[in-house]
Amino acid sequence: MTHALHGSDDLVAAGLISDAEAVRLRDVLDRYAVSLTPDMAELIDPSDPGDPIARQFVPSIAEGRVEPEERADPIGDDAHAPVIGIVHRYPDRVLLKPLHVCPVYCRFCFRREMVGPTGLGTLSEAELETALAYIARDPRIWEVVLTGGDPFALSARRLGGIAGRLAAIEHVRVLRIHTRVPVVKPDSVTDDLVQAMRRFGRAVFVALHANHPREFTPAARAACARLVDAGIPMVSQTVLLRGVNDSAATLDALMRSFVENRIKPYYLHHGDLAPGTSHLRTSLAEGQALMRALRGRLSGLAQPTYVLDIPGGHGKVPVGPQYLRDTADGQRVTDPDGRDHAYPPKI
Ligand SMILES: *Cc1c(COP(=O)(O)O)cnc(C)c1O
Ligand code: SF4
Repeated sequence: MTHALHGSDDLVAAGLISDAEAVRLRDVLDRYAVSLTPDMAELIDPSDPGDPIARQFVPSIAEGRVEPEERADPIGDDAHAPVIGIVHRYPDRVLLKPLHVCPVYCRFCFRREMVGPTGLGTLSEAELETALAYIARDPRIWEVVLTGGDPFALSARRLGGIAGRLAAIEHVRVLRIHTRVPVVKPDSVTDDLVQAMRRFGRAVFVALHANHPREFTPAARAACARLVDAGIPMVSQTVLLRGVNDSAATLDALMRSFVENRIKPYYLHHGDLAPGTSHLRTSLAEGQALMRALRGRLSGLAQPTYVLDIPGGHGKVPVGPQYLRDTADGQRVTDPDGRDHAYPPKI
């Protein structure tokens, strides 16, 4: 397999859906973009109806069901968008979204209404200038988070252009790039791309989005090594997904894969209320139980923070679990095995 899979014909030809499913999926395919890279398509076991890679990328009839609490802008970015391409919710950092294109389209994406061939596209030169001018004007902006879409879908020339322009803004000290490319299209992590990022000249971090340990193919491992060996520290992002990674064993293996590849686990995101994604969400209680299990079995180095992005643009916060509680005669704390202790201990 050498080319990306896009429409239902491609999915049928690859044996990922049947002809009958293609017909039933017509509305879903009209509404949400589809793309699988050859790397991801090859990882799927077509004989497994619950394959965790397929569940992330192959469209499902279940996406046609939109729950009342789901919304097109689930985390309220629009409330904090002063100019096109910028989201400025926290004083010290902004999101800069140079494009709304990705090499794969994840079925659970919180920007699923904006990404894809019919989405918001790529910023024009004029829009990019306006966004950069916004960043240059506000000395509180210490960090720029490049996101999208996937910034590694830009050419090395365009990415290097943006990194060079940000380098000229003295108060921007840190550049963070959120991407899925090192796992979904590892061959795109070229030396040219690495050199393009380094044009920033100061601290550059790459935040890798991966959701299942099987995504760490030999090619993905090599792509991550190219980044880290070039002096670019990496952190992880994972979305907690029903039927993909909602077991302690899978999350344990995934977090260990990150650390073994020199990627510090950062966030485990609770699933956002994106339209047509309820079949992929867990409850917060399930997420907390998984985090407790990880605390009991996994190196501290490999622990992510479980976060919820509060709908309406109110920001991200850790959502537990809680280990400490107040009682009538002091505080009690739960140990990793689930046993309860007084703190301070009774004399
Ligand atoms: C997630 C997010 C960030 C980055 O948050 P961190 O907690 O620093 O990783 C920044 N701006 C917006 C709008 C975000 O949604
Ligand atoms: S790569 Fe990121 S932005 Fe693109 S579809 Fe997946 S989750 Fe959405």
